[in-house]
Amino acid sequence: MISFTQRLGIDLGTCNIRIFQQRKGIVINEPATVAVSADNRILAMGEDAKNMLGKTPEAISAIYPLRDGVIASFRATEAMLRHYIIKLCGAFRLFGVEVMISVPVGITSTERRAVIDAATHAGARRVYLIKEPIAAALGAEVPIANPSGSMIIDIGGGTTEVAVISLGDIVAFSSARVGGNRFDQAIVNYIRKKHNLIIGQQTAEDLKIKIGAAMPTEANPTMEISGSNAITGLPEVMDIVAYEIVEALREELKEVIVTVKTVLQKTPPELASDIIDKGIVLTGGSSLLREFDKLLTKVTGVPCYRAEDPLLCTVRGAALAVDHLDEYKRAVIAGK
Ligand code: ADP
Ligand code: MG
Repeated sequence: MISFTQRLGIDLGTCNIRIFQQRKGIVINEPATVAVSADNRILAMGEDAKNMLGKTPEAISAIYPLRDGVIASFRATEAMLRHYIIKLCGAFRLFGVEVMISVPVGITSTERRAVIDAATHAGARRVYLIKEPIAAALGAEVPIANPSGSMIIDIGGGTTEVAVISLGDIVAFSSARVGGNRFDQAIVNYIRKKHNLIIGQQTAEDLKIKIGAAMPTEANPTMEISGSNAITGLPEVMDIVAYEIVEALREELKEVIVTVKTVLQKTPPELASDIIDKGIVLTGGSSLLREFDKLLTKVTGVPCYRAEDPLLCTVRGAALAVDHLDEYKRAVIAGK
């Protein structure tokens, strides 16, 4: 019999929401942003909402359903899930929609409940949750079910989550509220302090992506930016060199390193030897920062390498888990 059940893997991140629809692939890849009016009406979502940021009258504000990896707005989360579930499944929702949503490891049972309720209200018949690092590892093709330790470092927008996984579950874990958003803010602060130039978050992110790095590189490219002079208030154009971005990110990178070291120290020795053999896998958008793999290899002494498509590992893993519930049941937090 043909099944009309729709299966979705959902990565609801602090920066981006991504959805993998069974048989179709990644169908949603947008900023996890909701724009609301002063009287609390939802005006736009995703890319449309992000485009309103900073360019709209005061009365409109943008909210991210997740902040620092926890649900900051239940209503926005529910609205966002509903919006996309209806968009993707439409009338087929009546035949049942099963979703697997990745959630931060440290999520409380109340927050868990909130995610499940949000997805249920949004029209899902079955809701399962999977811990983010496990989904990320699955999506990065790390053999998580083996009785052998694997280490994964997921550096996203709001958080860095570091986990050692063995037999489908997490054995050692630590996280820090540091990621791409804080990197951008550090660049804003640095440019202001050093050059008296005020720039926006978007310019900071451009600098980070175009010329930024975790360690100095031989090619030390420059990028021209514009901002406003902090003293005169007048617009100004300036060249920034890559090395400055490395310097700007120093403290934030240190926090990532400390988190990684904490987990290595907590790792049982038998699993540590597996990790040394296999290396450490990096996922999440911020792992794309140039030389991040080299920096982490240098400070840990263990080979670290980026997964393929680090931005998409978590959503792929969530999709795999919902398609093979039996196989990954140890990794799945029973939902509803
Ligand atoms: P989340 O899971 O928290 O939503 P993502 O894994 O989607 O986060 O990563 C988003 C972060 O990745 C953003 O802060 C973005 O600036 C950063 N990012 C994306 N591409 C790059 C890149 N090439 N270099 C550095 N950072 C990047
Ligand atoms: Mg993520």
